Amino acid sequence: MLKLYNTLTRKKEVFESIETGKVKMYNCGPTVYDYSHIGNLRTFIFADTLRRHLETIGYEVRQIMNITDVGHLTADDLSQADTGEDKMLKASRREKKTPQDVANFYTEKFFEDLEKLNFKKAHFFPRATTHIPQIIKMVETLIEKGLAYEKNGNVFYDVTKFKDYGKLSKKKLADLKENARLEKHPDKKHGYDFALWLKAPKEHLLKWKSPWSLGYPGWHIECSAMSIEYLGETMDIHTGGEDHIFPHHENEIAQSEGCTEKEFSKFWLHTRFLLVDSQKMSKSKNNFYILKDILDKGFSAMDFRFMMLSSHYRSSLNFTWDGLQQASANFKKISRFISRLQEFQIKSEEASKIDPKKYLEYFDEAINDDLNTPKALSILFEMISEANKEMDAGQLSPKNLALLKNTWNKMNSDLGIEIEKKKSSQIPNEIIDLAEERVQARKEKDFEKADEIRKKIGKEGYTLDDMPNGTYGIIEK
Ligand code: AMP
Ligand code: ZN
Repeated sequence: MLKLYNTLTRKKEVFESIETGKVKMYNCGPTVYDYSHIGNLRTFIFADTLRRHLETIGYEVRQIMNITDVGHLTADDLSQADTGEDKMLKASRREKKTPQDVANFYTEKFFEDLEKLNFKKAHFFPRATTHIPQIIKMVETLIEKGLAYEKNGNVFYDVTKFKDYGKLSKKKLADLKENARLEKHPDKKHGYDFALWLKAPKEHLLKWKSPWSLGYPGWHIECSAMSIEYLGETMDIHTGGEDHIFPHHENEIAQSEGCTEKEFSKFWLHTRFLLVDSQKMSKSKNNFYILKDILDKGFSAMDFRFMMLSSHYRSSLNFTWDGLQQASANFKKISRFISRLQEFQIKSEEASKIDPKKYLEYFDEAINDDLNTPKALSILFEMISEANKEMDAGQLSPKNLALLKNTWNKMNSDLGIEIEKKKSSQIPNEIIDLAEERVQARKEKDFEKADEIRKKIGKEGYTLDDMPNGTYGIIEK
């Protein structure tokens, strides 16, 4: 039974999908004005692990991740101020490229990172700039419903008109208004109203025709418009980093639920921030890293993925090079173990006590408990330690060797770790059961039955090798 911590209710809840067997998931994706930094990657690795686990437990997942290629302002804490400079345009000036070229370049780099980190690709990566008609339509509906207003070609969402405003972030409108330190846009009624559409200044490069002005969309509206386009009015899971709880996701709820009058997402999952040397990453502090910095220091993308899995997504994670070194050493223990399993020659039929199925059960329990990957990894390490002892003593039975390989493959369907290119072979449990049945038949001198079972195993695509001491090996043909 999978339990997930839902920011909406501030509780761990049993996860049940809206439609049996299917999950609709939306992940807020990158703003492509620069390389994704390792904090962004932490949040995306969490989304990938969640997708993997949902699939492992049998769901068919439809995963959508947006690419923000327009209208994201530079001062993050002023993201509701709707003044300030657009990050895409700033990058465009810095790199002397058009905003489209900047976006295409960093989108490509983002995809390369996903590949290196062994992500399952989302089913679609919609871009804001190719969904302007859907965005305009949604803004029109919000105006018709009296939730938004236009002034001088700018359109704002009137947060006082949406009764549930603050339900995700638990912020009260009255407090928001009192605390509003926001640089006020002259056309806004209230400080915390946020832009749905902004009239473009002359020098603005990205602009589209709309009923209100030649302009561009506010940041939040793209996620509402695109998630409804690709997942429908209500989805199962929406993810992002903790900074998105307010204002981005709060505003997505106001826009989407304001429009459809239906619940927008059942579950809201947020990753705590990654810090570097206990501080917020920033270029000026010289503690801003991207995946390439990690690779340039001789670490692998898998070392980094493994490090991310070693902490729980709801704990803040302090990145240090020593921490990465430690993660890399632990990851090598796993790789060595997998190679050893692949090469291990059965030596005897001594009693093998290890119970891989039990380890898998504990591992699944940990992952099902709000994706507790650090606990799951500690269970994996216990299994490795016990299995290594049995291999050292030559005690590992063929059955347990095959079960260990299986168990690793099952665990790794959640972890998504790539151990070199060579895949460890996966012998299905049914084949192992047949082989065990055959050992029994041979002990009882029922050679006819033993032969039949060998043929059956052969038909399933596996070869059974008898060892001199009554044990066996199974290889995929
Ligand atoms: P952005 O490209 O800024 O839109 O961010 C992409 C994703 O990364 C969002 O879900 C953010 O919440 C998340 N994010 C940004 N900074 C960090 C960080 N330091 N640690 C973890 N996640 C982050
Ligand atoms: Zn979003």
